Formats: sequence, C-alpha cells, structure tokens
Amino acid sequence: MPQNLTHKILAAHLVDGASLGAPGSEISLRIDQTLTQDATGTMAYLQFEALGLDRVQTELSVSYVDHNTLQMGFRNPDDHRYLRTVAKRYGLVYSPPGTGICHQLHLENFAKPGKTLIGSDSHTPTAGGLGMIAMGAGGLSVALAMAGEPYRIAMPKVVRVNLTGKLTGWATGKDIILHLLGMLTVKGGVGKVFEYAGPGVKTLTVPERATITNMGAELGATTSLFPADERARDFLTSMGRADDYEEWVADEGAEYDETIEIDLSKLEPLAAQPHMPDRVVPVRELAGMAVSQSAIGSCTNSSYADLKSVAQMLTGKRISETTDLLVSPGSKQVMKMLAHENLIEPLLDAGARMLEASCGPCIGMGGSPISEGVSVRTFNRNFEGRSGTQDAKVYLTSPLVAARVALDGAFTDPAGWGEPPAFPELPATTPSIRHLFIFPPEDGSGVEVLRGPNIVPLETFSELPETIGTRILLKTGDDITTDHILPAGAQITALRSNIPAISEYIFSRVDAEFVSRMKSAEGAPCRGVILGGENYGQGSSREHAALGPRHLGVCAVITKSLARIHRANLVNFGILPLLLKNPADYDRLSQGTELTIAATDLTPGGTIAIEAKGVGPIEVINDLTATELAIIQAGGLLNYVRAKREQ
Ligand code: SF4
Repeated sequence: MPQNLTHKILAAHLVDGASLGAPGSEISLRIDQTLTQDATGTMAYLQFEALGLDRVQTELSVSYVDHNTLQMGFRNPDDHRYLRTVAKRYGLVYSPPGTGICHQLHLENFAKPGKTLIGSDSHTPTAGGLGMIAMGAGGLSVALAMAGEPYRIAMPKVVRVNLTGKLTGWATGKDIILHLLGMLTVKGGVGKVFEYAGPGVKTLTVPERATITNMGAELGATTSLFPADERARDFLTSMGRADDYEEWVADEGAEYDETIEIDLSKLEPLAAQPHMPDRVVPVRELAGMAVSQSAIGSCTNSSYADLKSVAQMLTGKRISETTDLLVSPGSKQVMKMLAHENLIEPLLDAGARMLEASCGPCIGMGGSPISEGVSVRTFNRNFEGRSGTQDAKVYLTSPLVAARVALDGAFTDPAGWGEPPAFPELPATTPSIRHLFIFPPEDGSGVEVLRGPNIVPLETFSELPETIGTRILLKTGDDITTDHILPAGAQITALRSNIPAISEYIFSRVDAEFVSRMKSAEGAPCRGVILGGENYGQGSSREHAALGPRHLGVCAVITKSLARIHRANLVNFGILPLLLKNPADYDRLSQGTELTIAATDLTPGGTIAIEAKGVGPIEVINDLTATELAIIQAGGLLNYVRAKREQ
C-alpha cells in the first residue's frame, strides 16, 4: 500500500507492536530529538531531574537560549547558567544566548530527514522543512521524551497541500502560508498534518519551506512537513552536513485524508492584519497606510536568503525618517554570512538597527512600537499586546514587504515596486558556527548543576490519600481561566523555576486570602479542594496553574465542567478532577464546607458520593482512564513514570 510521507515517518517511530490507527485514535511515538528554549526549558529540566536519570535517552537533545537573553538582574543569567550546567551533566547540547533562535539553529545544525522531534515551543514544526515530524509539546512531555518515554498524540488526518506553478514577482514563501491561513483560519489545522507535495515543491528552498512549516503552527496543526528531496540534500550539503541527508518522500499514488490545491503563480504579497494571523489581505489593499516600525527576523523569516534580499533592496538607500527598522538575524551563521558578503554595511547605512540573533521583539524583548503605531513584522504572531505596546497594530508580512515599507514609510502597491531582487541561493558551502555550541562530555556524572536562588528543584508530591478529609477552600464562578489561577506578567513569570515563590500568586487576583487559607491547613495530607463552575481552567496551557495549587496542597478540583488542557495538567500533577453529577449541587456547597472523599472507591469513569458536612452526600463523577487514575493515585506523572521505571 503506497504511503504518504507523514504515515511513513510515524510508522517508523511507533513503539513496539503498535500500528497506525484511524484519525483521532491514540498513537505512541519514539522521539529521536528534543529541543527546549530557555523560557520553557528550566521547568522541563527540573522535571527531567526529578525523574532521577543519569543521562538523556534521545539521539540528540538541545537546550537553546533565545527568549530571555536580556540580562537585567540575576534571574535570566542564573537560568542560563543552570541550563548550561544541566546540559553538561545530563548529555545535552547547549546553545548560549546570542547564538541564534532555536528553530533557525536547529534547522541549520541538527534537523534530520525522517526523524521525530518534540520541542517545548510551539514553532518546533519549523524543522518539518527538512522532512521530519517536528511537534510542539509541553515541558513535561519533553522531559519524559528525554527520559525515553514514548510521546502520545491523536493520530492526525493528513492533508496534501498540492503546490503547482512557481512564485512570481514579489510573492515569497511567507505568502504561501499567509494564503493558507486566510483560507483555513487559525482553527483550520487542528488534528491535521499539512504535507506539501506536487511539482511546485521543488521550486522552494529549505528556508522557504521552513517559513511555511513554522507558521503551520498558526493553523493549529499537529505539524507540517515537506519531502526530503534534492533541495534538502543541497541545503544539508551547504551546511556541511551532507551525511545527514536521506531521501524521505511520499510513495507514488499515496492517499491523503484531504487535498488542498495552491497555484503558486497566482500568489501576490499578502499581510495578516491585527490582531490575528488569519486576517489576511493583499498588501495592495493597505496602500497609503503609514508605518512607524518595520521588524525583520524571528524564527519565521530570519534566514540568509531573507536578510540578503533585504540588504539588496536597501543598498544605497535610506529608510524613511518616520520608520524604525529592526533587523534580527536568525543565527550567528546568518550574521557571519552577511558579514562575509559585506551586506551588514548597506543595512547599517540604510538606517537599520542590527539586533542580537535572538527572539527579541517577537517576544516583546525590546523593539516595542510607539503607542497606536503600525508595526510591520516578518514574524508569525500579531496578537494584541504581544509587541509590548497594547494599542499597537501589528501586520505580518514577508521580509520583502517589510523592507519596502521601511523605505516608503507606508504600505504601497507592489505594482509600483519594479523588479524584485534576485532570489539569493545558498552558497555551496557556508561558514560553520558549530564550535559555539557546547557539546556534553561522554560522562557528565561529575558535573555540578549550578542553580541560583531562583531555581528550586521540584518537590516530590505525596500519593493520593485513601480517605481525604478536607474542606472547600475556594468557591469560584464560571469560566475561570488559567490567568485567574496564576496571573501572567514579567514579575510573576520570572519565578517560573521557583514553584514555592510563584505559588504565592495563585488566585492572587481572585481572592487575596486564598494562599494564607491554604497555608493555615498545613500538615493535612490534602489541605483543600477548589469548587469551580462551568469551564474551569480555560485559556493558556500553562502548567504552573496546576503545579502551584498542587504545591499549596490542593488535592482535588470539583467543577461543573473542566477545560481539556487544564484537566490534563491537573492529572499530570496529581490533582483529582471531579465533576458534579448534578450541577445544582454547586449551590448547596460553600467555601468552608467540610468534605470526606473515599478515594479508594474511585474507579475509571465511575461515580462516588462525597460526604459534605451539614449538606449530605454529593455525587461526583470522573472521566479518567485507568492510567490517569493510577497517575493521580501515584501523586502525579513524574512519580508514576519513576515507579514504572523502577519495576
Ligand atoms: Fe517564539 Fe518568536 Fe522566538 Fe519564534 S522568534 S521561538 S515565535 S518568540
């Protein structure tokens, strides 16, 4: 039976004896490579350390520092030192701050056709540009993959994106993915892999392909990938990695769940309007709008070809005096190549500000636009406030459009732009920056892991008691978000590697007394239960919204209904999620009500009666699988995996 490329790679990585099921069914994958960035990495490595292993079990794991590279105060530099020493101790490659953005660096130095990669960053699919299955995942999943545990996903549908024709004029790879986003919306890729195929594929270089797979994350896709063909071979050869090339292409006549047709010759320069990546219009429709800032870079568009095109456009010209132009190369390799070809000088002469090779303005680390400013960015996200300026309007475009608006100080019609610069092909060989990575020793057992005061090892949580005598310490309304549970903000997120400190902020904006009530119950195996309404825990996937309450001693959350990702996080950290069988019972229970929960009566998917003092029995149900229940009884996933490995 001919197979598409996605099925080929997935089938080659299924854990023993399994087979690919129907879309939606669970599959377990062997993971070859992992990556982390610093913002999520510290917690992933604290979780890995809690598993008690001596070395990572993957073929390759890399720890990148690219998000919080500014070192104002001790916290970020302490994080960087922890990441460097933990990498050396446990066998990871470490990429110091300033070396580049994780996805660009991974593509250039480590991605391999036919392999699997998970990374604690949503744009990990960038590496799909080299024909691998690369997926974004939570920090705990990455920690478990580093420990050799399989990664479980729902079997995706595979969409064939059939490319025909060839890009013309000012249209670029960015416009292909913006076109798809406009067509499918930010929800259009959920549960799907976008596999690019057809005669148009060979017209695109690997960095152009990586721009497309990078922003497939904005479709909500499981991942996106291109075949590993002669273009991939040329790229790897140019990177000095010809030996890493293996052909991985779909079989002739392979079947797909869906097909989308795109004629590349029909595409024109596009822009995603504020504040969503799918609000896509042709650039010509924006002509006349003044632009106060242009920012070129990010893991989406910071390759050698991207920046060389920009340098070619700016050579001998001066940008508009009303527009600020920021340029961040994706890696020191890109920067070195520009320097070798004397392309930095024209950028500087044109008035561009050269930034460090890091995420920078994409994550709001500098480069915020003026108030109510229009910022044109080559990035992948334009959510309100992400730039650091709440009322700024961010448009997402290709580097060519971003360079053009910097020159003109406004959007103009591409019809009047004349001929685009020649597409910069990669040279046959490129300068290496491999010596800048810190590779681990064969045996890291003697390496001391250095932590600052803000990096605190994870505690070991206790098992679920057989009988829980506790009380409701907080009763919330409907639609409680993870932001209500743990607010965001620089002051709080800086404590991400220090669970005792960050836990002081749990429910701080809902009920300032909550933490002190929890603390006053110190000593009890279960200090308290939260009673929630409908859709408890909606919003972001932040693990700390479960870890913090767990640290404070919350052992169960009883709600009318629960958001899916938060429910998974509760299970992972050993908090029992229970649903009121009769939602009207919510009104019979109050803050302070004493409860007795016979945890030994719990069965997967079963109903039990909780004794509520002064109220009577309250029936609750759970929707847990047998494994999930065992995880909670063990005190969380780390305990569960640790115990399994000791058997
Ligand atoms: Fe995330 Fe932006 Fe960094 Fe890419 S460049 S990894 S989108 S913060």
